Amino acid sequence: MKYICGNCKYRFEPKTGKVPKTCPFCNSTAVSKEATTSDILDDLSRNPMSR
Ligand SMILES: [Zn+2]
Repeated sequence: MKYICGNCKYRFEPKTGKVPKTCPFCNSTAVSKEATTSDILDDLSRNPMSR
């Protein structure tokens, strides 16, 4: 799972498997999971009415 910082857009993948609370680059707490292409496709197939 990759994460992206909403502050500086730094993308990273923690090796420890833990969910990062802060960005390792700017130390911001605006870290969120980065949606992968397969996640987006999966979401579309699960919610066909949202298209
Ligand atoms: Zn950052």
